[in-house]
Parts: sequence; C-alpha cells; structure tokens
Amino acid sequence: MYEELEKRLGYTFKNRELLKQALTHVSYAKDRGTRHYETLEFLGDALLNFLIVDLLVEAFPDKREGALASLKAYLISEDFFNELARDLDLVPYILISRGKKNVSIIGDVFEALWAAIYLDSGKDTNLVRDLFRNIFKEKIIEVIKRRKIKRDYKTMLQEITQKRWKERPEYKVVSVEGPEHAKVFTVEGSIKGYRALGRGRSKKEAEQEAAKILVRELTSE
Ligand code: MN
Repeated sequence: MYEELEKRLGYTFKNRELLKQALTHVSYAKDRGTRHYETLEFLGDALLNFLIVDLLVEAFPDKREGALASLKAYLISEDFFNELARDLDLVPYILISRGKKNVSIIGDVFEALWAAIYLDSGKDTNLVRDLFRNIFKEKIIEVIKRRKIKRDYKTMLQEITQKRWKERPEYKVVSVEGPEHAKVFTVEGSIKGYRALGRGRSKKEAEQEAAKILVRELTSE
C-alpha cells in the first residue's frame, strides 16, 4: 500500500515500520500500542530547516541574509509544508483515530517523513538532500521567482509567530494625522513584548510597515 508513495518519493524503505511510524498520529498509536511520529517530527523539523536553507543559499548566493531569512520563514511554514505534502499526496496515508487531519498534523507528518527517510537510509544526508531536491527544488525556485511570496509582511509575520508561539500579532492605530487628503496613519504592531511602529497613507500600509520591522527583528535573532 505504500508503493505509490514510495514511487513519488523515489525511495523504497528498507524498514516500512519507520514509514508507518512517520504517518501515525499519537491518537492512533495509543489505541493500538504502536509508535507515533512525534520524535521523528522533532528531527524532521531540523532536517527540513537544513534542506531548505541549503537550497536557498545555493540558488540565491547573492541575496542578503535578511532576504533569505524572510524566504526561509515562509518555506519552513506549516502552510508551505502542507502544499508540499499535497504534491506527494501524503494525506490519505496519515493514520489518526481522533480529530481531523488538519494543517498542523499534515505539516508534522511531512516533517516526520523526512526524518524517517534519513534514519532508514542509515543517516545518509546526501541521499536525503538529493531526494528532496529532485522532488522540490524546481517548485521552490519557481515559487520564489514567480513572487508567489509577495512581500506581504503581515502574512509572513503571522507565519513566524504562529510557529513560534501559536499566537497572532496585534495591530492598533496609534494616531491619524494630517489633512483629509494626506492623512498619515501610525500603527503599532505587537507580539509577545515585541513592538514596532509603522507609518503609511492607509491603515493597511502602516500595518505592513510595522509587520516588516517585526519580521526583520524576529528573523535576525
Ligand atoms: Mn512540526
């Protein structure tokens, strides 16, 4: 039953139990006394971080670190992992007995899958890197070049804060100045004690400015 998935991956597991573990949610594992994906997810998170950064640095050697960090924030986000998981048609394979196969679980399974390949291959980093590139390199470069990643800092910021704290940033208008035809909005964006002021000719523009400063701050730590 895993042949199709393995074909899409271009990898055949020596130990299918490892693959099954990567696809198994804790609710399913508890019911049946089998293993679940949590530890694999932890490892896979780090592994994908590496795979994405490796690809970014190679594809865009002249981009500044700040720009790469913003791209990375999107490329390691749950949303993007869900998109990649869809490409692999991974979702039908997920084993879960309670709750839904939601964005968070699909993202976790995608991470766990890469850790499973890594371990199954005898920790063959080169093999994992080649597989990942074969499947996703073109897509990732396309996504970046087509500027599917608009410079939408509010979205970018939210992806970062959701991942880090499971919380969304807040925005509030601090002041509106100037005459009717040339108003200047000042908005404060805040999250977990981080604060930034943005100014713009509309509330939306001011929010984007505030978000941009916060993205820079959070990705440069
Ligand atoms: Mn995760």
